[in-house]
Amino acid sequence: MSRVIVIGGGIVGVTSAWALLNDGHEVILLEAGQDIAGQTSYANGGQIAVSDSAPWAAPSVPFKLLRWLGRKDAPFRLRLRLDIAQWHWLYLFLLNCRGQALSAGTERNLHLATYSLSCLQQTRSILGNDFSYDDSQSGIVRLISTQKEADAARDYFAKHHQDKKIVWMEPSELAAKDTAFRSAVESNLIAGAVMGATDESGDARIFATKLATEVENRGGEIRTNCRVTDFISHNGYVQGVTTEHGDLLADRVVLSSGVASRALAKKIGITIPILPIKGYSVTVPITDERNVPIASCTDLKHRLVISRLGSRLRVAGFAEIGSDDACDAGRAAAARDRLEELFPEAADYHLFENWTGFRPMTPDGAPIIGEAETLKNLWFNTGHGTLGWTLSHGTAQLLTDMMAERKTALDVKPYKIKRSYVSGRLG
Ligand SMILES: Cc1cc2nc3c(=O)[nH]c(=O)nc-3n(C[C@H](O)[C@H](O)[C@H](O)COP(=O)(O)OP(=O)(O)OC[C@H]3O[C@@H](n4cnc5c(N)ncnc54)[C@H](O)[C@@H]3O)c2cc1C
Repeated sequence: MSRVIVIGGGIVGVTSAWALLNDGHEVILLEAGQDIAGQTSYANGGQIAVSDSAPWAAPSVPFKLLRWLGRKDAPFRLRLRLDIAQWHWLYLFLLNCRGQALSAGTERNLHLATYSLSCLQQTRSILGNDFSYDDSQSGIVRLISTQKEADAARDYFAKHHQDKKIVWMEPSELAAKDTAFRSAVESNLIAGAVMGATDESGDARIFATKLATEVENRGGEIRTNCRVTDFISHNGYVQGVTTEHGDLLADRVVLSSGVASRALAKKIGITIPILPIKGYSVTVPITDERNVPIASCTDLKHRLVISRLGSRLRVAGFAEIGSDDACDAGRAAAARDRLEELFPEAADYHLFENWTGFRPMTPDGAPIIGEAETLKNLWFNTGHGTLGWTLSHGTAQLLTDMMAERKTALDVKPYKIKRSYVSGRLG
């Protein structure tokens, strides 16, 4: 048994601590904030989006970025800064926008997301039915709003998809299956839909907080208000960390500190291309259950995700590069307005909670998992970007298996720290 320090108490750090503890390690999780999941894992879109796990970089993205310039409801916003790291990241992101890279990245993410869902299901089976987190196993429905896109999707599904896990639905079928969509269909806001039946949703913050308590109950240690400021290393080996409250020694250290991972890695001379990409969410109280969609949804027109989380309804999305951490009320209102347009009778839209968070994003849309090549015993599990809630369960298990030098369920080469960061191009 080895003593492992996990830096960061977001969904990635907590699932890592859980998997490592279950593998017999002594685990200490250090979180800088006063709460678990107080940063990016606090109020995300809630989707476990296996069927929609493609990386964001795609051939259409550069043109869309130009088209959306200056629009309040634009899904993407780019503010260029005098920052070499930002320019380098954007260059790699553009290389990932090519069709070949998108295909490779989509296949890679689909495998990881599918594996991750099986790990989540395994955790749930260990913890039992009382372990609830406003979760739903009712799938995710992707809403298409233009006739042209609906026609293309219908054709595609007619030719390619015999798989009953992902099905095409006409607006009338959608409204018949779930009456919550009736108003949007009657207002011609939906031209078609794609249903991912095995997808799930749930509140990542509640999950992480409860799982952290389980870690403690089973002998692990969780220390909040404990910021790591540096690493202790000797002769090419990490031996522990320096915190605001003193030094802590360990056999291994796992870096899972979200957008802060880049700066921490830099302290020991390791450069990782993680860029903070800002997003928003708005949460409102449900007033009429009958008008709330049973499945989680993705509004493809605005790239917004919508999840029912117990008695609350949440809309989340938007991507801003180079923004500060202020919550732009206009952006949040644009997301809320779209939610109300789709589901007008579902919630009290005056009682809203706005939130912003930063996705720890790599240019190829894949997380970074593994031991540092230049420093023994320093491990990474970070950079989950747009899909941290979806992928964290699987990456925690991959990390644990790699540490144990066991055969991993998936090929881990695409997640190496030293890689090209262009999907499909290893190196
Ligand atoms: C608007 C929005 C919507 C999203 N929707 C979805 C979704 O529907 N599905 C999905 O799968 N993903 C979604 N995501 C992405 C997902 O939320 C993130 O990928 C995930 O939360 C990242 O988790 P993390 O643990 O890496 O980072 P965090 O949750 O940020 O955790 C990192 C932790 O490390 C701590 N820390 C930092 N520095 C130190 C230090 N020096 N010492 C100790 N602790 C430190 C921080 O305080 C923080 O708590 C969304 C993200 C956003 C912004």
